[in-house]
Amino acid sequence: MAKLKSVWLQELTWEDVAEYLKSDDIILFPVGSTEQHGPAGPLGVDSYAAIALAEDAAKETGVLVTPPLWFGDSPHHLDFPGTISLRTETLVEVAKDVICSLARHGFKKIIIINGHKGTNNAGLITACRSLHQYELPDVFLSLVDPMYLARGIAHIKDAVEHHAGELEISHVWYKHPHLIKQEKLTGEQVNLEPLMSEFTHKDLLGKGGDSIEIFWNSREQKAFAPTGSFSDSSHASPEKGRQYHEYMVKNLVKFIGWLRRYEGPIGRIKQ
Ligand SMILES: [Zn+2]
Repeated sequence: MAKLKSVWLQELTWEDVAEYLKSDDIILFPVGSTEQHGPAGPLGVDSYAAIALAEDAAKETGVLVTPPLWFGDSPHHLDFPGTISLRTETLVEVAKDVICSLARHGFKKIIIINGHKGTNNAGLITACRSLHQYELPDVFLSLVDPMYLARGIAHIKDAVEHHAGELEISHVWYKHPHLIKQEKLTGEQVNLEPLMSEFTHKDLLGKGGDSIEIFWNSREQKAFAPTGSFSDSSHASPEKGRQYHEYMVKNLVKFIGWLRRYEGPIGRIKQ
């Protein structure tokens, strides 16, 4: 197959995609959010993370990427201007419609790259489990999240990380240096324990310990994190962002290599 001029679906013609589907059936689907990331980070942090991971893994492996979904499940950030949230139910339906469209054309192996750690997963997991069981049993669906994919590199950070913290800020700083307001990075850390019990998930990108989920809304969040940042970002750096990014891209490239050969436990997922 002739090399396509872009990995991004929106930059290709339908004939390019039809040609790709003659020899490949893998596609990446980046999902982010448009939500506040404290005074130092742009509203697109999670989307930029998903886009960067998808784009660099696609360039190394030659697979395609769907246009990014810039909106995610962010209701708890809605008290900050600029945040745009989908309800979990809406995200489920959007993800299902994107996946069904792709499957209709012959994409049989779909990897969702979620840049909005954890919170998008309720909707994305619901969509994937339901589709794979009932409507698309022969389509391979998987979900990538830095919270799980980057466990082996999380030791490079100095601070506990929850929201707008060291590594996610570093990631965007590495890829889009002009988007981080360095003078607004903070050494402040919201102590969640008095609010969420000793069983709160203390570090989304590190050792969390035993945990119990407690839900909070946007009003409560604005009260306990008035700047929007939960986490110490003062040790963020483009170099940490590079290491974090390259570690995850390497894992993704490995996974895509494995997936090319994968036919599923009953041999129905194949090119
Ligand atoms: Zn984020």
